[in-house]
Amino acid sequence: MAHTASLSQLQKPSWALVNGELVRYEDVRIHISAEALTRALSVFEGIKGYWSHSGEVFAIRAPRRHFDRLCRSASLLQIPVAFTYEGFLAGLAMLADKLLVPDRDLWFRPTLYVTEGHWGEGTRADLVVTAFTQQMNDPDPMRLGVSTWRRSADVSLPARVKCSANYVVARLARIEARRLGYDDALLLNDFGRIAEATGACVLIADRRGITTPPTSEYCLDSITVDILEQAAFDLGLRFDRHPIERTELLSADECGVAGTISELTLVAEVDGFHYEQSGVLSHLRQRYLELMRGQRETIGVDLVPLVQADGRQVPSVAGPFVSVLADAQTGIPSPTVAAPAGRI
Ligand code: PMP
Repeated sequence: MAHTASLSQLQKPSWALVNGELVRYEDVRIHISAEALTRALSVFEGIKGYWSHSGEVFAIRAPRRHFDRLCRSASLLQIPVAFTYEGFLAGLAMLADKLLVPDRDLWFRPTLYVTEGHWGEGTRADLVVTAFTQQMNDPDPMRLGVSTWRRSADVSLPARVKCSANYVVARLARIEARRLGYDDALLLNDFGRIAEATGACVLIADRRGITTPPTSEYCLDSITVDILEQAAFDLGLRFDRHPIERTELLSADECGVAGTISELTLVAEVDGFHYEQSGVLSHLRQRYLELMRGQRETIGVDLVPLVQADGRQVPSVAGPFVSVLADAQTGIPSPTVAAPAGRI
């Protein structure tokens, strides 16, 4: 199967959510002078919802952690947040209600676009949520190349901030990798060590156990990696976070990439070095999927049910999208009224 990350972007769903209101996808607008365009000021999240194994409940994985990371990205870029967690979750439920189909999971992309303001004065942002259906089949193991492009340093463009600008270099790395016949690329950091893939973190496994770079190596603070760490613990596997040299990666027994969309996708090859496909990472992948489909539980895996199989929304998440203002999230004064609906 082709790798789904880019395929989901090619879908054109019929609805999007703009500041808590459903808007026809083709009617969503942004002005050319918005700082989202002129200075690439937008932060976003990728959130996945899963149908349970029995097909009865659709639940979102770790929405609170995604909300908190979105707020942290916004705060670090001095963008005010004008919605609450409860409103955010209710918005996901509204969109799921429109776009969810049986036998397909859903990937949500909430993006906070800066629509008003100038160099930090009078900044206002609109929250737009889009969602794309996801097939449930297993992806093929990936073939990766180490890119000549590098992950930017914390003092240049912090990896901790999940902003669109951070994906400019990732895009170049992916284009380069595809030109060379690979599926995707790995990026090194300023120190020449492994940072991450274009849209996922990197895991290796060898006789010492499973290793992934810490966020101080300029990779995103991944929610999936935290869940995998807990799952590895449950399985009695050693899981460590330390910097990974390029040759350590190339001499590992197994390699995988981890992220909300990738889940844990096995890597077959990096730059002609081949990896095992049936070791601990494959085992960990199976465990992760069981957790996502509600076949198992563990601490730190927060699945919030949104929709039941009969199409009814779970009542606890119904509510207004933008309720009280949440300037405490950023410490930046928020507008006294919520941004108008219907525009971005
Ligand atoms: N690194 C990058 C650059 C990503 O885009 C992602 C996907 N959000 C990840 C890592 C994995 O993060 P998460 O597990 O939170 O999706």
